[in-house]
Amino acid sequence: MSDKCKDCGKCCIETEMIVSEDDISLIIRKCQNYLPNQAFYFKNEDNLFQLKNIEGNCIFFEKNSKICNIYEYRPQGCRFYPLIFDFEKQKCIYDKYCPRTHLFYKEKAVLNNTCKNLKKFLKKQLNLKI
Ligand code: SF4
Ligand code: SF4
Repeated sequence: MSDKCKDCGKCCIETEMIVSEDDISLIIRKCQNYLPNQAFYFKNEDNLFQLKNIEGNCIFFEKNSKICNIYEYRPQGCRFYPLIFDFEKQKCIYDKYCPRTHLFYKEKAVLNNTCKNLKKFLKKQLNLKI
């Protein structure tokens, strides 16, 4: 985990993280040692792939040490987070669930660029209309 996330891992508890087919392929290719015996994702009611939880934590979360076992290859949504897209307002916002949003994307240019990439991800990889 990054320093910003040290000893937190809140967003990995009861995660609702959406994953793209590219995310899934990358994890299968690169994270063999951490692949569970069961599928690590499922199709949710919106017809999108979503990470599974086990005992209330993301399937890849190491709850004792509070680390992501696949950090280097974690899904793109986990990389953008705590920046998320508000579909009603049609803009990127910080997810209030994260207690340390003030530490992320402090420079406006970085924030704008991350928002641009997040929107591109939603459109191109998840085929969502925004
Ligand atoms: S992104 Fe926020 S909620 Fe998630 S681990 Fe980091 S500080 Fe915690
Ligand atoms: S893949 Fe890693 S960063 Fe993403 S929710 Fe799971 S444990 Fe957290």
